[in-house]
Amino acid sequence: MRAVVDQDTCTGCGLCIETAPGVYSWDDDKAKAIEGRIPEDQQDAAKQGADDCPVDAIEIKED
Ligand code: SF4
Repeated sequence: MRAVVDQDTCTGCGLCIETAPGVYSWDDDKAKAIEGRIPEDQQDAAKQGADDCPVDAIEIKED
C-alpha cells in the first residue's frame, strides 16, 4: 500500500499528520506521505488519515 497527497488540493490542515504521524509529515505548509510502501503497522492509520481528510487530497494505492 502507498499513499499520495495531492498538494494542490491539500489545505495544510494537519489532520492526517496528527492521525498518522508515521505516514504523513509536513512539506512546507502542505502534507506529504512517506515514499514507497507503507509499513503494515501503519496502514490502518494511513487509511484513517485519508478517510478523515476534509478535502479528499489523499489517495491510497493498493499495490
Ligand atoms: S488532512 Fe488533507 S488537507 Fe489536511 S493536511 Fe492532510 S492531506 Fe492536507
